[in-house]
Amino acid sequence: EAKAAGRNRAVVFHEHMNELLQLRHTVEAELREALRRDDQLSVAFQPLFDANGKVIGAEALARWTHPKYGPISPGQFIPVAESSGLIEDLGDAVLRRSMEMGGRWPERTIAVNISPAQLRNPKFQSRIFELLALTGMRPCDLELEITEGILLQDETVTTETLRTFRAAGIKIALDDFGTGYSSLNYLKRYAVDRIKIDRSFISQLGEDQTSSAIVQAMVTLAHAMGIEVTAEGVETETQLGVLRDMGCNTIQGYLLSAPVSPEKAAELFAEGHARTRTRRRRVA
Ligand code: C2E
Ligand code: MG
Ligand code: MG
Ligand code: MG
Repeated sequence: EAKAAGRNRAVVFHEHMNELLQLRHTVEAELREALRRDDQLSVAFQPLFDANGKVIGAEALARWTHPKYGPISPGQFIPVAESSGLIEDLGDAVLRRSMEMGGRWPERTIAVNISPAQLRNPKFQSRIFELLALTGMRPCDLELEITEGILLQDETVTTETLRTFRAAGIKIALDDFGTGYSSLNYLKRYAVDRIKIDRSFISQLGEDQTSSAIVQAMVTLAHAMGIEVTAEGVETETQLGVLRDMGCNTIQGYLLSAPVSPEKAAELFAEGHARTRTRRRRVA
């Protein structure tokens, strides 16, 4: 009887695996089609603020709205894009649109997520410089977000590329900081301009003393090394207050703004302030 139950579980497991594999295959085929047609993919921009609530730029985030299945989250399609190699085309489309935005808005930072496959491609360097020339974007307004995973591989081409970018004034940010392995080591070995503290550390701020101590230590250490700090996933006034007291440079999160359309981002760029902050100031 126990054996039969085990077999049944195995059968169920197999069916589930097949479903997943099929879905994955479908997502890949559909994504390939979306890239070919170029009318389902778009870029959302999540505004970045200084500690006083002033808009300083935005992070570009890939969006995919399928005509039949509706919006598909990056958490679902980015991994498929990465494992299938489609991330190179997808990433290039995101870069192109983001840097067009950057060209129209000098002095606003445009941050773009870069996958390991993109950075490893020997043509990536020249593509970035080509896009800077095409869009008229200033190198110092462009911030490339990479994850520790890229640095972990420690390939010469990656190291050289990052060095070339920094020499040209392009900023490098270490994304999801704190979630990887031996993060502090990388700060010493690779010169980066910014760390983005992962939202898993931010969500407990003000509630749990350990999280506050960890975030404070990250900020202190980064600043001692001349590195700026962004807090991602800031959702409450309490978190914002704590981060401001800690001297955190840049704030990103639903409290001040969710990702918005390019048009809405442009409006915010023109206004300069988050609506919530402006409203609070008027009341006070
Ligand atoms: P990420 O780079 O860490 O981007 C931040 C994610 O956190 C975004 O999710 C954003 O919508 C979400 N977020 C921002 N503020 C808050 C908040 O206050 N609370 C919560 N709960 N979430 C918040 P999104 O857009 O779903 O993107 C997920 C991830 O997908 C990104 O994480 C990034 O790693 C990847 N991704 C997105 N676009 C691209 C792209 O163009 N290229 C590459 N390579 N990866 C991308
Ligand atoms: Mg990012
Ligand atoms: Mg991030
Ligand atoms: Mg994150």
